[in-house]
Amino acid sequence: MANLKFDECFLKNTQKTITVNNLLHIHDTNIQLYFSVYSDDCYCPVCFQAKLSFVANAKTPHFRSINKHLESCEYNFKATTKKQAEDFYSDTNNRETINRMLRSCIDSLYQKTYTDKTEETRKSVNSHSSSPFIVLINSNKRRFRKKRITAVFHDEDYNIKMIFYGKVLIKWEKDDTDWFLIIKNNAQECVCKIKVTGKVYYYIDDRMKFSGLKAGKVAFIAEMKEYKGCNSSYIRRSSDLMINLEDIVDDCIGDMSL
Ligand SMILES: [Zn+2]
Repeated sequence: MANLKFDECFLKNTQKTITVNNLLHIHDTNIQLYFSVYSDDCYCPVCFQAKLSFVANAKTPHFRSINKHLESCEYNFKATTKKQAEDFYSDTNNRETINRMLRSCIDSLYQKTYTDKTEETRKSVNSHSSSPFIVLINSNKRRFRKKRITAVFHDEDYNIKMIFYGKVLIKWEKDDTDWFLIIKNNAQECVCKIKVTGKVYYYIDDRMKFSGLKAGKVAFIAEMKEYKGCNSSYIRRSSDLMINLEDIVDDCIGDMSL
């Protein structure tokens, strides 16, 4: 728990989430606004209960919790180790759970404002629906790790199987035998290049195949390798990747069968 770093926080004033990058920009360009509006209004993006503090001056800026999470919050549980995450992924019984994790990450990218619900209602909803990220490892509850692909990467985010997700620009490229999904941030900087072998690409849903650079929401399970300029990753199964293009209406999310 002590080293837990969050990529985003929930702001109670505006009922929206804000990412490390966006808050860092406010911190660096308008420190008065930062202190008057944001610094004291950061909460856990899952349970909305634990207060977070923004560590802007670290090597890799992040949010960290300064008090307790709701009992049912996934951040109350220890993260899976590298071996636990790999074993969990390899067990075919967990495919449906992994699918739920990917879908849940894509859903979370549709900015909700929660204005129709009171904070108590939200907490109650969250405490009664079990998070797909709380998984059983040898009868112990563990938190399967997830990470925004556009967020600042910490050393512990590399070389371990986890879920990556984000609202990004994406493009398919091909060499002689393999495909590569190029993921860029809004500034059009490459954040990750995912290798997909020709065989795996064949099984990927046609709605996720397109030409040119497109805006979309992406979630995938993989290990990230640190690579200068653009991190690299590798998808083993076609169901390890989920893409929702921006022009696909929201109603289709539940229809994205893999
Ligand atoms: Zn929490």
